[in-house]
Amino acid sequence: MNCTVCSGKNIEVRFIKNGYPILQCIDCNHLFTNYKPTPQEVNEIYSDDYFFKGGAGYDDYTLEKDMLINRGEYYAEKISKYIVPGKVLDIGSAAGFILKGFENRGWNGTGIEPNQFMVDYGKQNLGLNLLQGTIEKIELSEKYNLIILIQVVAHIYDLRSSFNKISSILNPGGLILIETWDKDSWTSKLFGKYWHEYSPPSTLNYFSKKTLNLFLKQQDFVLVDRGTPKKSILSNHAKSLILYKLKESKYFKWLSKITNIIPDNVIIPYPSEDLFWALYKQAKL
Ligand SMILES: [Zn+2]
Repeated sequence: MNCTVCSGKNIEVRFIKNGYPILQCIDCNHLFTNYKPTPQEVNEIYSDDYFFKGGAGYDDYTLEKDMLINRGEYYAEKISKYIVPGKVLDIGSAAGFILKGFENRGWNGTGIEPNQFMVDYGKQNLGLNLLQGTIEKIELSEKYNLIILIQVVAHIYDLRSSFNKISSILNPGGLILIETWDKDSWTSKLFGKYWHEYSPPSTLNYFSKKTLNLFLKQQDFVLVDRGTPKKSILSNHAKSLILYKLKESKYFKWLSKITNIIPDNVIIPYPSEDLFWALYKQAKL
């Protein structure tokens, strides 16, 4: 078995989560789960329950619509000093709320999403061009000026071939925007194995700023800009996540009492210290 980032062979088991080993590469420190879900399992992971039944996914994803549209607009503005609006591909778009934010800022959007309900929702309610599928399997003939992966890169089970595909459909001078969780963050250190992002087989690669850079460098990308997004979360999603992640913890009873007094549908600021975005361009054009 090789490290998914540096291909190193010095791999140790750090701990077991959901029955899957969380592995650490001794050479580059990358954490990952060595697992390739079958197409059937991908359908199960991103079933309607992922978006509507809480647990590892969302309590009700469509309730976060306005927040996510705002986030798309926020990113479109952030990157406007590096690129003029053109064609954007959103990999793992869900219903396309973030993509809609980019369209509001002049981008022409396409989204890829495994969940059929989300695809239909985005097409019907937002008029978006969404395709059902995964980056690993989908065939794309068009090229894009910008490819975005918002909280998606940790879920990709075939990183190398997916990024080969991403490179091949990026126009010269095109950019990649990645938002992901930072396993070197204080939040991650504090929660240890209970950190929300350790959620195999849904998540499989647990990046830090350093290991994401290392991986992208091997794919011939260089860092253009990086930052920490301002993030809000609906109280429902926060509660569902906290309870799901800490169900094995000895504090569970105490925490469920606390979360019970938080009202539903309230937008709460989220400590985004463990989330970052990074913008990359191809090193050689
Ligand atoms: Zn490695």
